Amino acid sequence: MIDAPYDPATESTYECLECGHLVTATSNPGTCPECNVCYRNTAMPLE
Ligand SMILES: [Zn+2]
Repeated sequence: MIDAPYDPATESTYECLECGHLVTATSNPGTCPECNVCYRNTAMPLE
């Protein structure tokens, strides 16, 4: 059994950097319909 550090089936929270709208999804939801900017996975550290 592989102990993967990231399970793609697990829901992650994505945040719109423009309006702060939060979306919970199993994969990247793409772009915010309001701002047309990419969502950021809040589980990923900002670099
Ligand atoms: Zn937005």
